[in-house]
Amino acid sequence: TDSTVPQPSDTSHLNTSISKRGLLFVLSAPSGTGKDTVIKVLKEQGMDFHVVASVTTRAPRIGESEGNPYHFVDTDTFDRLVASDELLEYANVHGNWYGQPKQPIREHLSQGRDVLLKIDVQGAATVRQKLPGAIFLFLAPGSFEELAHRLTNRQTETEAEKQRRLLDAQDELAQREQYDYVVENRQGHLDQAVEQVRAIMLAEHCRTHQKHITI
Ligand code: 5GP
Repeated sequence: TDSTVPQPSDTSHLNTSISKRGLLFVLSAPSGTGKDTVIKVLKEQGMDFHVVASVTTRAPRIGESEGNPYHFVDTDTFDRLVASDELLEYANVHGNWYGQPKQPIREHLSQGRDVLLKIDVQGAATVRQKLPGAIFLFLAPGSFEELAHRLTNRQTETEAEKQRRLLDAQDELAQREQYDYVVENRQGHLDQAVEQVRAIMLAEHCRTHQKHITI
């Protein structure tokens, strides 16, 4: 008989027999693609996952405050976090530094809760090297024109910042093939994008061979 075929008494291949640890999802999307909206709707639908608040040297925008959505720090503090190896990854995105603190990721995963890292393509590449067991999702805009339109409409960036983000978006879009999944968030089809991300997250929990993460 083929020794790779599980015998009836052998349940080690079933994901139900594995002690519950959370899964680590990495979500990247060019600025203005709508990833925050997708995350918000998933949460409203009752999906339970923790979104890690990045540490950043970017100045808070109107309506943002400490911890919401980021920990806002000065460059010295950021450098200290890097030097003491407290960040899983860090990158310079659109001229500011952003990084993911290890501690909350570790904590939530060990409590059995899924964790979502909302990071750019450079950060995702670092995590892919360090933690190949993470699941990588790329949210893409329907088109480049849609992206430009959305960035103009949300009016949170200056014209120069907007132009920089659009330039960066071209590089980011070119890297979508590096991800496990690509979901398109087309104008007027948010529900479809949400449904697809939700389906991916649920399906990953049904994998027989879940790749667990140790940070
Ligand atoms: P924003 O300034 O618009 O909030 O974010 C700009 C970009 O930085 C987004 O593409 C976002 O995914 C990325 N970003 C936010 N936090 C992190 C992080 O901790 N690490 C990395 N590598 N990118 C991040």
